[in-house]
Amino acid sequence: MEKERICCVCRLKAPASERIRIAREKKPDGGYKYFVDRVGNANGRGCYLCSSCIDTAIKKKAINRSFKAQVCQEIYDELINIQKSLQ
Ligand SMILES: [Zn+2]
Repeated sequence: MEKERICCVCRLKAPASERIRIAREKKPDGGYKYFVDRVGNANGRGCYLCSSCIDTAIKKKAINRSFKAQVCQEIYDELINIQKSLQ
């Protein structure tokens, strides 16, 4: 059975395949690189969003809160693009 994932905005569960995953990868210098994990199985910590929560996540910077870190603006720009492509 497919693993269920909790959206970091609405906290509802849904199959991982219906989620957008934002992953965190440790860089050699000890910092972190954040990216939208389009395949959905990249290593490292990840947080999940359902498509209806993209807008809220952008407005509230929910990804920052989820990782307890400052996530680069490019992540939010990419989410905006994903949202546009879904409309
Ligand atoms: Zn959601």
